[in-house]
Amino acid sequence: AAIDAARNPLRNKTWQAGPLLATEVAKGATQDVSNPADPSDVVGTVQHATPADVTAAFDAAKLWDAPTAERASILNKAADALEANYAPLFALLAREAGKTLPDCVAELREAVDFLRYYAAQARAETRPAGTYVCISPWNFPLAIFTGQIAAALAAGNAVLAKPAEQTPLIAHLAVTLMHEAGVPEDALQLLPGGGDIGAALTSDGRIGGVAFTGSTATALKIRASLAEHAAPGTPLIAETGGLNAMIVDSTALPEQAVTAIIESAFQSAGQRCSALRCLYVQEDIAPAFTAMLRGAMDALVMGAPWDLSTDVGPVIDEAARQGIADHIDTARAEGRVLHALPTPQTGTYIAPTLISVNGIEDLTREIFGPVLHIATFRSGQMHRVIQDINATGYGLTFGLHTRIDDRVQFVSDRILAGNVYVNRNQIGAIVGSQPFGGTGLSGTGPKAGGPDYLLRFSAPVAAQ
Ligand code: ADP
Repeated sequence: AAIDAARNPLRNKTWQAGPLLATEVAKGATQDVSNPADPSDVVGTVQHATPADVTAAFDAAKLWDAPTAERASILNKAADALEANYAPLFALLAREAGKTLPDCVAELREAVDFLRYYAAQARAETRPAGTYVCISPWNFPLAIFTGQIAAALAAGNAVLAKPAEQTPLIAHLAVTLMHEAGVPEDALQLLPGGGDIGAALTSDGRIGGVAFTGSTATALKIRASLAEHAAPGTPLIAETGGLNAMIVDSTALPEQAVTAIIESAFQSAGQRCSALRCLYVQEDIAPAFTAMLRGAMDALVMGAPWDLSTDVGPVIDEAARQGIADHIDTARAEGRVLHALPTPQTGTYIAPTLISVNGIEDLTREIFGPVLHIATFRSGQMHRVIQDINATGYGLTFGLHTRIDDRVQFVSDRILAGNVYVNRNQIGAIVGSQPFGGTGLSGTGPKAGGPDYLLRFSAPVAAQ
């Protein structure tokens, strides 16, 4: 199937973005922002920040010293503004990030929930940490971007925000709406750019803290940079990758498990850090269960993000597509591809693919796309499977489908994962009630959307 680019209803505007600084802007390089589903669609252009802008932004940054109630009221107004502007936000999420409409809705909801939740949690008795640097990824370019900023602002910090290089336009619109809602321009500055700008931001000695979501490798670079340049004890909140597993035993309800697997592995084209990567199915049910899973994969509709029937959109860009395709090609050459759908001809699409593995130890890196690996285990091997999952060193999400209550306890007690999901899909956060975050190589904590998150954006209370 080909994507019919001419039918893209969102190509009615070319967006412009650039740094939003409290002082004059240096002229950085300008770059086109492309649409992953439609290479002929230039969504807009972005002017990158320069290292001089980073210095100027630190110079101009001012703590947001308005009374707590006023800050909370403005953050709630920003939430109202995001809700009122759903149309351009959805258009950008679809065009710039390749998000399907259900994903756009969920993402706006999460961004709004973060603003309102952290506004409600702002406390007058805490002191801000200083100038907080927020570095975000492209896979939740509105929700994670807004959530980091909302927490830092609720605690009264000055914020320097750097969106991912793939998604600067949505970030620019979100910050513009926050400024219009009343967040002062010297309390929230936007610095679009790539890793070089992220590196410049995290190597300025005036930094008060960092909220980062992205790869484990980048988190380690930031930690090293803070150790060299920042004051001792400068907080780093890192949310990174995962090699997330699920166990389905022979007592599981198969329809429930298959639905959960399809959502966990293939929604957002598998581009969630929480996404299911490695499924373990108990051997005695594996043939029938795998047949059901393949049937459910066949029902997935790959297509344009702006088509309401689409289940699976494109992956973010050509580099991502190539990396995932290489992984699939290797598996295919080894005869391990069990099932794959036909791939659309235009855009950076990867077809949902099922690959057989011996176990999670065969996954040497996080494949950030719609690729599910499947292994089997025998009765009595549950303990070993848990050990193998824990041995990856990651600890983000884990799923379990079983009707044996004791097993839920046994596995939950032993698995190293920030979020454990039982008899349901394995998907992200619910702000306020299901905070999200991992352990080990997956993150530092505290969990986003949870009650202790804001504390890390505040200066430690002096010993009394
Ligand atoms: P992803 O695999 O999600 O692209 P990255 O860790 O490469 O993960 O990117 C996440 C964010 O970190 C992006 O905004 C990116 O520009 C930024 N980034 C990349 N390299 C660095 C760095 N050395 N220091 C700070 N930020 C960086």
